[in-house]
Amino acid sequence: MATPDRNLHPVNLPADWAPQGWRERVAVQQPSYPDQGALATVQRELAALPPLVTSWEIMSLKHCLAEAQEGKRFLLQGGDCAENFSDCSSEVISNRLKVLLQMSLVLVHGLRLPVVRVGRFAGQYAKPRSTDTETRGGQTLPSYRGDIINAPDFTAEARTPDPRRMIKAHARSAMTMNFVRSLIDGGFADLHHPEYWSLGWVGHSPLADEYHRMVSSIGDAVRFMETLSGESVHNINRVDFYTSHEALLLPYEEAQTRQVPRQWGWFNLSTHFPWIGMRTAALDGAHVEYFRGIRNPVAVKIGPSVTPDQLLKLIDVLNPDDEPGRLSLIHRMGAAHIADKLPALLDAVKRDGRRVLWICDPMHGNTESTSNGYKTRRFANIRSEVEQSFDLHAAAGTRLGGVHLELTGEDVTECTGGARDLTDADLERAYRSTVDPRLNYEQALETAMLIVRKQAQ
Ligand code: PEP
Ligand code: MN
Repeated sequence: MATPDRNLHPVNLPADWAPQGWRERVAVQQPSYPDQGALATVQRELAALPPLVTSWEIMSLKHCLAEAQEGKRFLLQGGDCAENFSDCSSEVISNRLKVLLQMSLVLVHGLRLPVVRVGRFAGQYAKPRSTDTETRGGQTLPSYRGDIINAPDFTAEARTPDPRRMIKAHARSAMTMNFVRSLIDGGFADLHHPEYWSLGWVGHSPLADEYHRMVSSIGDAVRFMETLSGESVHNINRVDFYTSHEALLLPYEEAQTRQVPRQWGWFNLSTHFPWIGMRTAALDGAHVEYFRGIRNPVAVKIGPSVTPDQLLKLIDVLNPDDEPGRLSLIHRMGAAHIADKLPALLDAVKRDGRRVLWICDPMHGNTESTSNGYKTRRFANIRSEVEQSFDLHAAAGTRLGGVHLELTGEDVTECTGGARDLTDADLERAYRSTVDPRLNYEQALETAMLIVRKQAQ
């Protein structure tokens, strides 16, 4: 995963910043822990544990993101809405890796660009919620906020925030990272052997033929290059994988914020690429205060209510030196609103000459509830938001440099539509998410194919 720090853009480190400085601001979407002493003990324990990622991996990703800003790479960021402690298993982790590798193969082949692969995993355990409490049958309890905070069962015990869960989340993140690193180091991602990434049911998929054609054409290209050069193509045997999560739970993130020998400044060493969610992106809020001081590349989710003026101020705070690779903006408007909301933002950022990586999240603006009570997303809306994004960026003279998706390698039925045309009635068959609906394996692959088709137009 590591290459040395190649990011030499001068930056002024904020002198008035400290990892705990966010505590002076309003921190929304935080649990209220009943025992503050236990919370402090957990923070001390976390701070003493080794980090999950290193600063040179972080700087190497920043360099890749800088190249994506210049159109030399495309970013694929994806994974669960929220990881569950019980899904920290070899099958779930390897299936998710397989689908991301397959999607990136489709993108590399179709876009003719290297793909930066970033998982929403190894730390994606905290969730923002629309209400602090939930009432059922006359009983009101705290909302479920992700496994790092409490448990989903509707009992007072399960829903009480427990700081010890942070230690479990850290351990599971480490196990996930360890397994992903070992799989990749062991050759799992070797382009000579895409059969390693086959998911059992791909053979029965309506998309299988198109996918297998791409695999064999890449295989031919690899063999052709090897024949020409007389040696094996080492640099495409291996791929890099980076991690990301919404850095929502600030006591956890603070405890993982460290200084590193021979590097200036502070790094969040729990993930390579943290992001600020839409609900916590207030300019004067605790999350923006925390993020402005860390040296990781960072992203912010941009929803339909953000104005051009607010966006430029956010950029000023998060990337005052216009550092390459530092800031990504993930727009998540919804298929029905993007044409109305995005162009003014693109124009403002372009007019001011700000350097950002634009990423499309076609999931979070397209969530709806069915009459039988499921939270779902319609594939047609996801497709439409991706397609409109490419068109709106082309019209504005800006570049869409990546996508951010909620997906799983499991055969779930959570989003409707797609190659198998899932309907509302199919949702109950395999609805497994405790939070947002994810693309299943086929719908994820279909999204990669539609990006390629759109780009070829
Ligand atoms: C998410 O990414 O799961 C999420 C809650 O997104 P947003 O902040 O864009 O609503
Ligand atoms: Mn989500």
